[in-house]
Amino acid sequence: MSKRILVVGSTALDSVETSSGRVDDALGGSAFFFSSAASLLAPVGLVGVVGGDFPRDEIHFLTERGVDMEGLETVPGGLTFRWGGRYHENMNERTTLFTHLNVFQDFNPYIPPSQRDVPVLFLANIQPRLQLHVLEQLTAPELVIMDTMNLWIELSRDELLQVIRTGILIVNDEESRLLTGVSGPLQGARLLQRMGPHTVIVKKGEHGALMLGAEGRLFSVPAWPLDRVVDPTGAGDTFAGGFVGSLARDGAWGWPELCRAMAWGSAMASFCVEDFSVNRLRTMDLGQARERFDGFRALTTIPA
Ligand code: AMP
Repeated sequence: MSKRILVVGSTALDSVETSSGRVDDALGGSAFFFSSAASLLAPVGLVGVVGGDFPRDEIHFLTERGVDMEGLETVPGGLTFRWGGRYHENMNERTTLFTHLNVFQDFNPYIPPSQRDVPVLFLANIQPRLQLHVLEQLTAPELVIMDTMNLWIELSRDELLQVIRTGILIVNDEESRLLTGVSGPLQGARLLQRMGPHTVIVKKGEHGALMLGAEGRLFSVPAWPLDRVVDPTGAGDTFAGGFVGSLARDGAWGWPELCRAMAWGSAMASFCVEDFSVNRLRTMDLGQARERFDGFRALTTIPA
């Protein structure tokens, strides 16, 4: 039985340059990438903030997929959060060109009463103090999954350590290194698990993702091999969307469900990077995602 998901995160307009081209003021932010993928698998409610300048038509595809936008606050006369980045030739490194927080600066997530009893919560990348504030407003979430970024590891470590205690932690290899001081993903995951989460996922970009569960169980999923990556922005949030969406759809998070969710995460992320912004996520459907999910079996099963 599918469980409802609530995502709280950034809702942005991104300007991105890669070797494939550029986009300006395209839909971005962790909450939009996450919901684009998760909504193909389970019902999603989104909490975020945009300015009066936000092009609402751009998220029509999300409402069509059933995403509940009651929690998306609009500040009339305010400007939407804008982020700009340029990728280096190898797509693994990027330079942040600007971060204009605008209305996101005063974001104080308010969870609509209709969503406070939500069973599955994804705390996307926002200030850890705000993540704690979201947790306080929920009645009794059954599963909390969280993400963060280098900025909060450096600026708000203590508050971050309070949030990390809950549920499942998803970080990338750089965040794992910043949090633990070690660069190996497995060693990092083991140290992160000691901070409280029962399950830790370390994303390794084009090298896939590693999961460490209870009792030291390990699972690894590759990235789907692609001929061309157009724009890696949001791949991590899209991975989280596929991962959390799959758990919510199964309504359970035992080890088999967690492993399947890893493959859904990797499948969804591979669509994200095929085009700028959410462009590919907007046009794809569940059938195409399932083909890639099934493709992982062929890709990773060793013949007897
Ligand atoms: P990722 O590629 O996973 O780092 O995610 C990229 C997304 O994060 C972009 O769509 C940005 O709009 C968003 N973003 C960039 N900086 C921040 C920030 N300080 N807080 C929240 N979201 C951000």
